[in-house]
Amino acid sequence: MTTLTVLGSSGGTPTRTNPASGYLLETAGMSFWIDAGTGTFMELARHIDPGTLDGVVLSHLHIDHCADLFGLYGYLAFGPSGEIPMPVLAPPGAETQFATFARSTEGHLHAVFDFTEVDAGSTVKIEDVAIRFGEAVHPVPALVTRFEMPDGILVYSGDTGPGSDLPQLAESGGTLLCEATIAGERDERSYPYHLTAFEAGRIAADAGVRTLVVTHLASGLDPDRALSEAATTYAGEIILATPGVEITIGENS
Ligand SMILES: [Zn+2]
Ligand SMILES: [Zn+2]
Repeated sequence: MTTLTVLGSSGGTPTRTNPASGYLLETAGMSFWIDAGTGTFMELARHIDPGTLDGVVLSHLHIDHCADLFGLYGYLAFGPSGEIPMPVLAPPGAETQFATFARSTEGHLHAVFDFTEVDAGSTVKIEDVAIRFGEAVHPVPALVTRFEMPDGILVYSGDTGPGSDLPQLAESGGTLLCEATIAGERDERSYPYHLTAFEAGRIAADAGVRTLVVTHLASGLDPDRALSEAATTYAGEIILATPGVEITIGENS
């Protein structure tokens, strides 16, 4: 059985009731924290002992996707601890950036985290899970990610505008977790580094995914509007990512 639990889904900034981006992927006795957005460490700890994670996968280094890695750092280095060094897959520059902020260029950070800097085209295998990365279109190095488990596939957009590798990575993907930051149809004034709900639906339809999970709605955006806009371009199942929602990715293994 493979499940995805939403820890937070607020686009850009946490709100009073919704952390920024973070998800817990559990499969065959393994668990991965996908994006460590602001507020998601506490949500993660409600579901599992963070020290038992098999890895952390970061789409990019905007703080709404990575800041709570410091929560896990404290937990592993100075708190209850866990299985260290813990794998962290992240775009280039991550290790230096985190070590600089933590003032830990030679210290604890490297003892508790085993950074692997990944890029578009990278594939990392952790036991039975293959994690493939593609290019996102965003103002900083950012990745779209495909998780291939024995019983299912999860494709995650991270933050991206149109023109990314997401359509290719989503091909025959079971579940597509896709950002839908922007309301309405794209026009010449639309921000080029995020997707609309219409675009999320189109990518899901073209790739033939089984389920579309829309996430990273800009705070203040009407969720019902996002769902109905995605439904105009995608006829399959659509789920709104909100904290605590658990989505079944695969039934076996
Ligand atoms: Zn974001
Ligand atoms: Zn971003």
